[in-house]
Amino acid sequence: MELSLTPDELAFADDVRAFVAANLPEDIAEKVRYNEVLKRDDYMRWQQRLAARGWHTIGWPVEYGGPGWTVTQKFLFELICGEMDCPVIQPFGPRMAGPVIYSFGTPEQKDRFLPGIRNSTDWWCQGYSEPQAGSDLATLATRAEDAGDHYIVNGQKIWTSYAHYANWMFCLVRTSREDRPQKGISFVLIDMATPGITVEPIIGVDGRHSFNTVFFDNVAVPKANRIGEEGKGWTYAKFLLEHERVDNAAIGVTKKALERVKHLAERPVDGPIALIDDPRFRTRLTEIEAQFASLEMMALKVLSDVASGSSPGPASSLLKIRGTEIAQRISELGMEAAGQYALAAPRPQERGNLPPLGPREAEMAMSNYLWRRAMSIYGGSNEIQRNIIAKRILEM
Ligand SMILES: Cc1cc2nc3c(=O)[nH]c(=O)nc-3n(C[C@H](O)[C@H](O)[C@H](O)COP(=O)(O)OP(=O)(O)OC[C@H]3O[C@@H](n4cnc5c(N)ncnc54)[C@H](O)[C@@H]3O)c2cc1C
Repeated sequence: MELSLTPDELAFADDVRAFVAANLPEDIAEKVRYNEVLKRDDYMRWQQRLAARGWHTIGWPVEYGGPGWTVTQKFLFELICGEMDCPVIQPFGPRMAGPVIYSFGTPEQKDRFLPGIRNSTDWWCQGYSEPQAGSDLATLATRAEDAGDHYIVNGQKIWTSYAHYANWMFCLVRTSREDRPQKGISFVLIDMATPGITVEPIIGVDGRHSFNTVFFDNVAVPKANRIGEEGKGWTYAKFLLEHERVDNAAIGVTKKALERVKHLAERPVDGPIALIDDPRFRTRLTEIEAQFASLEMMALKVLSDVASGSSPGPASSLLKIRGTEIAQRISELGMEAAGQYALAAPRPQERGNLPPLGPREAEMAMSNYLWRRAMSIYGGSNEIQRNIIAKRILEM
């Protein structure tokens, strides 16, 4: 899609490109380019450079330290960051915890927690899912017993992304079993250094460690760390999920992925002819390009609705389904373009110092393909998003 940009917007895009060129360390860009594992320090180094420019929390209101960008500026920033191999800004602080804290937190909570998110000195994780509570999140059982000025938390969270990097968790706990399950939930902020917390790794299908199980054994959490009213946590949890889904369309990253597939398909990998010259491959590629262009328009529409003050609502479900399906199709084309080399390197991180068997871009096709399967599960699975559309848009 070609946006018709004003001179100011063109100047803004130049400014972002110049900033990234001057500030993104090449070792980090290379890891992103070849889909290698990024460590905590890689993310933090980049995010802190963005923060120094006021660009880590781009969606925040100006009063809390956001840059006051228009929808088009935010959109351009995401596209350029994808284009120039920047790591994805980890959403748990700036896009999840932060908006809940500045929307529903007390002045003391805002003073205490927002600077660490804005400056990317804290790493947050999301304690929602439990072994028996995923799609049906309201059945969560981790309990918080009243102990005067604090709660005692016992239970287990699962699939907690980057809990092993995090020093804070925003967490849903059950403070009451009376009434509807949604009513007894509270939203608390937990210091991950509190005694009684154990983090155990879960290795994903791509061989990487991003998930964890987190156990709570008599963990003391001050009541001062509860957001909003006791028992009203479901309201804040839903607010957060609607915003999370808008971001799950991952426009900048998907655009770059599409370019990578095209680039890979231009080389003859599996025979004398480049795949890009195969009319069947080109047809599928063109279809996906058209679908992606319409996704970009939809994302801009939802973002401008959010900017004018309305909640993303069920439209965020449309965006999540479409964005994740397109990203998955692109990863399937990537596997085809990589040919036999995709199979040769299911886990590039285990290759050590040995050279790749084929083109280095081909090596990342398999891990990318496997990782993209997760997109239709996290942030509320795509089936659940279809249920939301059926109920709230189609009124079925
Ligand atoms: C990469 C990744 C990162 C994640 N990170 C986090 C994290 O940081 N913190 C966190 O709390 N959680 C995280 N999750 C967990 C995620 O939120 C859950 O996996 C998700 O909500 C689905 O829950 P579940 O895995 O229990 O599957 P289930 O709810 O058991 O669902 C299994 C299948 O049944 C389908 N299904 C279930 N109910 C219905 C229904 N009513 N109608 C139709 N179909 C249905 C689902 O779509 C799915 O296909 C992460 C997951 C992934 C994949």
